[in-house]
Amino acid sequence: MAPSIGFDPERIKDKAKKDLLYLLEGIRGKKNVVLEQSLAGPLNLIVTFPTLQDYGTDKVFFLENDNADVSQRNVVFIARGENAKQAQLIADLLSLELDESFADLYLRSDPTPTYLMARALMLVQQKHGLFPRITGKGDNAKKLADLLARMRQELIAGEDTNGNSRGGLTHSATTENLIIIDREIDYATPLLTQLTYEGLVDEIVGIKNNRADVDTAIVGAAPQAAATSTKPAAPASAPTKKRNILLDSSDKLYAQLRDTNFAIVGGLLNKVARRLQTDYDSRHTTKTTPELAEFVKKLPAYQAEQQSLKVHTGLAEDIMKHTRTEQFSRILEVQQNLAAGADPSTQHNTIEELISRDTPLTEVLRLLCLESCISGGIKPRELENFKRMILQAYGYQHLLTLNALEKLQLLLSRTSPLAVMIPMTGATSNTGTKTNYTYLRKALRLIVDEVNEHDPNDIAYKQYVTSIIRSGNANNIVLNGGGASTGWFGFEDAVKHVRGQTFDELQKGEDKAAKARALLSGSGEKKTVFVVFLGGITFTEVAALRFIAKKEEGQSCSISANARANTNRSESARNSMTSSSTDHDDKLSSLSSLSSKATSPTDFGSAPKEEARSAKRRTYNVRPKVSIPADLIPSEYARQCISAGESSRLNPYALHPEEHSLLRRHINYQQVTTYLNIRNGILRLWVRNPLIGVMLDEAVGCAKDARWFDIANVCYEWLVRRGYINYGCLENLNGSKKSKRGRPGKRKRKTVVVIGAGMSGLGCARQLEGLFAQYEDVFLEKGEDAPQVIMLEGRDRVGGRVYSRGFQSKPKSTTLLPGSRYTAEMGGMIITGFDRGNPLNIIVRGQLALPYHALKPDTTIYDATGMPVDAERDQHAEQLFNYILDRVSEYKFNIPIPSTAEGDKDLLDAGRELSGGDGFKSILELEEGAAAAPDTASAVPQTQQMQMVPVSSDRLTGRAHLEPGVPAVHTAAFRAQEIGWKLRPGIGIEQDLDLEAAVRSQYATLGSVVDEAIRQFSRIVDFAPLDLRLINWHVANLEYSNATTCNTLSLGGWDLDAGNEWEGKHTMVTGGYQQPLTVRRRSNVKRIAYSTDQANSRSIIECENGEVIEADYVVSSVPLGVLKKQTIQFEPPLPDFKLGAIQRIGFGILNKVVLIYEEPFWDQGRDIFGTLRDPVNRFSVDQTEYMQHRGRFFQWFNCTKTSGVPALLALMAGDAAFYTEKTSDTELVEEATKVLKSVFGFQIPQPKESLVTRWGHDSFAYGSYSYTGAKFQPDDYEEMAKPIGNLFFAGEHTCGTHPATVHGAYISGLRAASEVLDAMIGPIEIPEPLIQPKESKRKSETALTQLDPRQERLNAYEFDVWNHIYTILGDRPYKPLNNYANPYRIYSKEKWEEAKRKCDQGRRPGKGKPISNEVKKMVTKMWTDASETEKKPYNDTATAQKQAYAAALAEYNEKSAIWDKDALNVRAEYEKTNPSVPGLGELPDSPSRRDRKAKRVSGYAENDGSGSEMEI
Ligand SMILES: Cc1cc2nc3c(=O)[nH]c(=O)nc-3n(C[C@H](O)[C@H](O)[C@H](O)COP(=O)(O)OP(=O)(O)OC[C@H]3O[C@@H](n4cnc5c(N)ncnc54)[C@H](O)[C@@H]3O)c2cc1C
Repeated sequence: MAPSIGFDPERIKDKAKKDLLYLLEGIRGKKNVVLEQSLAGPLNLIVTFPTLQDYGTDKVFFLENDNADVSQRNVVFIARGENAKQAQLIADLLSLELDESFADLYLRSDPTPTYLMARALMLVQQKHGLFPRITGKGDNAKKLADLLARMRQELIAGEDTNGNSRGGLTHSATTENLIIIDREIDYATPLLTQLTYEGLVDEIVGIKNNRADVDTAIVGAAPQAAATSTKPAAPASAPTKKRNILLDSSDKLYAQLRDTNFAIVGGLLNKVARRLQTDYDSRHTTKTTPELAEFVKKLPAYQAEQQSLKVHTGLAEDIMKHTRTEQFSRILEVQQNLAAGADPSTQHNTIEELISRDTPLTEVLRLLCLESCISGGIKPRELENFKRMILQAYGYQHLLTLNALEKLQLLLSRTSPLAVMIPMTGATSNTGTKTNYTYLRKALRLIVDEVNEHDPNDIAYKQYVTSIIRSGNANNIVLNGGGASTGWFGFEDAVKHVRGQTFDELQKGEDKAAKARALLSGSGEKKTVFVVFLGGITFTEVAALRFIAKKEEGQSCSISANARANTNRSESARNSMTSSSTDHDDKLSSLSSLSSKATSPTDFGSAPKEEARSAKRRTYNVRPKVSIPADLIPSEYARQCISAGESSRLNPYALHPEEHSLLRRHINYQQVTTYLNIRNGILRLWVRNPLIGVMLDEAVGCAKDARWFDIANVCYEWLVRRGYINYGCLENLNGSKKSKRGRPGKRKRKTVVVIGAGMSGLGCARQLEGLFAQYEDVFLEKGEDAPQVIMLEGRDRVGGRVYSRGFQSKPKSTTLLPGSRYTAEMGGMIITGFDRGNPLNIIVRGQLALPYHALKPDTTIYDATGMPVDAERDQHAEQLFNYILDRVSEYKFNIPIPSTAEGDKDLLDAGRELSGGDGFKSILELEEGAAAAPDTASAVPQTQQMQMVPVSSDRLTGRAHLEPGVPAVHTAAFRAQEIGWKLRPGIGIEQDLDLEAAVRSQYATLGSVVDEAIRQFSRIVDFAPLDLRLINWHVANLEYSNATTCNTLSLGGWDLDAGNEWEGKHTMVTGGYQQPLTVRRRSNVKRIAYSTDQANSRSIIECENGEVIEADYVVSSVPLGVLKKQTIQFEPPLPDFKLGAIQRIGFGILNKVVLIYEEPFWDQGRDIFGTLRDPVNRFSVDQTEYMQHRGRFFQWFNCTKTSGVPALLALMAGDAAFYTEKTSDTELVEEATKVLKSVFGFQIPQPKESLVTRWGHDSFAYGSYSYTGAKFQPDDYEEMAKPIGNLFFAGEHTCGTHPATVHGAYISGLRAASEVLDAMIGPIEIPEPLIQPKESKRKSETALTQLDPRQERLNAYEFDVWNHIYTILGDRPYKPLNNYANPYRIYSKEKWEEAKRKCDQGRRPGKGKPISNEVKKMVTKMWTDASETEKKPYNDTATAQKQAYAAALAEYNEKSAIWDKDALNVRAEYEKTNPSVPGLGELPDSPSRRDRKAKRVSGYAENDGSGSEMEI
């Protein structure tokens, strides 16, 4: 048997050609060939028409045209079936060219492509031996591998005796392995725009069978000779204005360009042009005849290269026209934001705008599908909105398109079970149901920065690739590598977060034969790795695979390339999605906006040192606007900034009270807008990538003018110190700044002791360490080392009331990540939404990428009989209960919100500010003036206080959801009737509740007044016991959120934190929390001797185990329950204000009973269900009888997904929580089982394990969480937080805005850390004047920004150039305002008054006129109820407005393009007549900033041509 030869793609081509010609030769005489049209291209790749003629072909016809003439006796038909086994060859790329393979596999579930691929691979195996190893990912990939195994068996079974097919039985000595990737595992990558040259040619022009049809106006006409020699086999005549160009490696220039990032294509073409010119010019220097002969010999090559250069320069210029369009940049921006994990809703305005600008539908759908794939679906309402817009804008025929996309799971609603991002469910641990990009982005570092496009060290330089295997466009690719394969080794975790089955199989061959083959074929040869993509591949992925192959050459090779290539990566950077423009002298410089260059720093180590507290003014080596991307239109930049403000718990349009008091002496109202623009800009930097801290110079670069650098610095410092930026798990904060000024230990070092390692204590300690690292220089200047932080924890675990307790039971098969424990949450469990500022969003999703499960709030409530309660009846009960809460809200404390200075909303929305602002009175002066003379008060803008009313209750947390509005505007009877209740006979809609007496009682609590309201309601409507059970279920839910019975809750402050809720789905972390911090455990503190004098005094902390620690500062984060119990002795005793607050704030109990089973018997599709509990007397309609039982096992959580084992968690709330404390486990489990039996039947098993909490007895908590007790005072939480001397306080009970929560605890830790730092180094110092006066702008710029002289000259020159341009051309045309035409909006405007009138019905006296939110709700209701005929005129008007906008936009685009062109000409003219001459002081290449910074800066530099000094 002949030795198996190594794989050579050329042989495949040869074989295919020979097979075809052999077929033709076998038919004697002349013949006509009838060809399936789709085969023309592939055929063209292996044989030319003249060759076919040589083999007797007369004419070629397309099968589809039905016109095969019979001019010849022989007619040869070649259809797909004949050719399926032949693969198209593109050097290292083979493709089956099955155009429909994607739709076949994923839409129609037709496995034909898998079968055809298996056949092709079998042929390879028969020829070259078995693939020793087959590794793969995805369900179809697994099917392909199984099919291959089966074909192999069939081959063996049917093998002929002379051993013709024995190649299928022995290992290949030349093949390393086969990797099969199912396209389905990563839909996101093909949805992203390809940024390699070949990728963009494909996107914009389209490549088919290595060919592209391009306008001759772009690439010129084809040279005569070439036209004849490459005439295609197919008879299709080229269209007159198109040229069919060949794009393959036979074109040397194309081979060089195809895989490069488009940003550098211009430079490469320039270089080639120069070289060609030099080579060509060499003819002038030829002196001798042989030299001339040599030149003439090379001439055809020159000409071919010249021709190719012309083609690619033309193509590149054409592509550039597209990439320069605003549409292209916006699409790219959205893609990159989504890929980087930005909040998808922040991208929706842009997508909507793209739709209204008639962007091609495919582009819009790509964006939406991308969002859906990456973010686990699109929010239902938003998806519906987009679908509606698409149908209206592009036509209703696309209903089918949308349907198909949904079927493909490319466009899903978040509520769809298919969209849920559960990394691992299903039968085997190796099967993911969905590709989890959030996890993979972090785990595989998919977003890459700091890449040099000229010499990339990572495959991601091709684009922002989000694929797990970033590789190879066609159906199959072959690469050469060498060495041993390792399968998925090292990436097991990552592949589990990718959809579909994972496999890694060794194929056993005949050992002896394998050895012989290895011997004969020689050793040490490079081996081939086959990477097969089922369902398609993009050119960018092909480029990435080639890149890996090149890198891996000569090494042991495995194409698990994604991960290996990542090992060299630096930190992914914040602005990987923003543009960069460094290639200023490139012909195609503007293309660099496609670059993935670094734009931000990776650590604090290189941050400029803080000097803010020194009296002398700081100098900055920063260009204004350096952190404002030049390629973002101002309004888009503003939108991102505002969204960042909102995501940071700050009002983007107004100062925080502390900012107000910090700045009011130094700025005036007019300047607030500019300040807010800077502040929101800094927050934008942080929110876009919280993996790395924001540096001072980045922050200062958010100012548009150097006059504002000082205030930007103050703002930055405030944000850092208060924990609005640079917080959480930032690796680089700690340990990056090893002191460069001598060894530590020689200097003094202060100690901060944090007591308690719960969320607040851990958060505080970590934040302190981070702050100390950032302020190290300040300590060094004081002659101290950065302080140390010691944590003391009484338990032998960390986490405090966040406790993931492990089970003894283990599941039959695991569904959790490796390393996860099987646990249930005994304490804090639900993250109540990530949006709108929850700091846990940054930590859980942005930094740690913890897996989590989004909870579905849909609840079925079961009655005590086990019957599900009718949903409508439940809704009536809930709405009535909300009305009661609404009524009770009238008696809430009126807590004034401090009014602070606001910016100009319109300017902030537009990303602009007024240039003036100097010379006005400062905020303080105006405020003082207003206080002194009330009649001038109007000079001080007032903030209107918003009232909030409860509109619904959150079933997952029991908290009331509030919206702005006027409390209880309608009478009780009117509202009850509106909800759907039937009024008792004789009761009119004017009938109302009278709660005054109940409220005036000295024992009034929330509970007593609610009970009275229910009693009075029973006179208005006829409550059945079931109604009361339902209403009391909602009361129990409220008791759960407060960890106490309603009749201990403050009437005025029960919803103190209202209005501070986050948004977004509630979630639970999967697999429990684990904390890696080092903490001194079992250090139960029993005495704290602190100092009431904050400066220079020591404290002593004594622990029960005898440990005594001295500290300069102490942070107590022990729970309120511990403080109430007084188990810690404070010396001196805590002052009265503190003791008062400790007493008045309540500390309640919530308990849990967790039951673990062998198998689940409840609905796995639901996350929660409720059960109604009977009062003592089942049929009672007496409200007081419901209190005792209503909270017992009233709410059940299905924890199977987060625990890893079938588990149910029941809540014991209100009275029931206290009952749990004194009841045995056996009794509780018995009662729980009884409740479950009533719902699921008597056959359900006993739990195999149970866990019960008794937080009231926990000596490190003495309860669950705080609540506002009956005697609560509005500022009690603030009093709780106040430090006393060097003793500081943290903990959920010190956070009035978010008490009783994990995030509240964390926020309190940040606050305490900030207070400790202030105590150590003093408050933020403010230079005077804080904003440099305008008239000294030039002077101040020089003083502040010591730029290098060259940069300075260029800045000044640039200024003059633009002045000149504006003088000649006037202003650049203004973009028309988008009116965002929307039928609802037009309707709402028209029907506003009518809606207002409707709101007046059933209104209670004294409730005033309806406020806008009420009216808005009414309009929405009217619109929803309106018929299609009623809606039609509004739909028509909206369409007309949209069209008008599109026309205005087109005009603007045209005019602005002309203006831009004219500006370039004016500029060129100016530069010619007024060149900028280098000054004497300029060093040739003095970099004013370190290299990395220069690179970063270039990303944001104004793209105005002045940036050549930024080159690197
Ligand atoms: C049953 C239950 C359910 C909850 N559900 C949720 C929820 O779903 N969502 C949510 O956001 N929040 C929830 N919470 C609230 C949340 O868990 C807490 O608000 C938060 O964990 C409190 O953190 P902390 O740091 O303030 O206190 P803790 O976590 O209690 O930390 C205080 C630490 O101090 C230690 N300590 C106490 N005394 C001493 C001493 N003398 N010496 C040394 N160390 C000491 C303790 O051991 C503890 O580790 C729940 C709480 C409970 C109990």
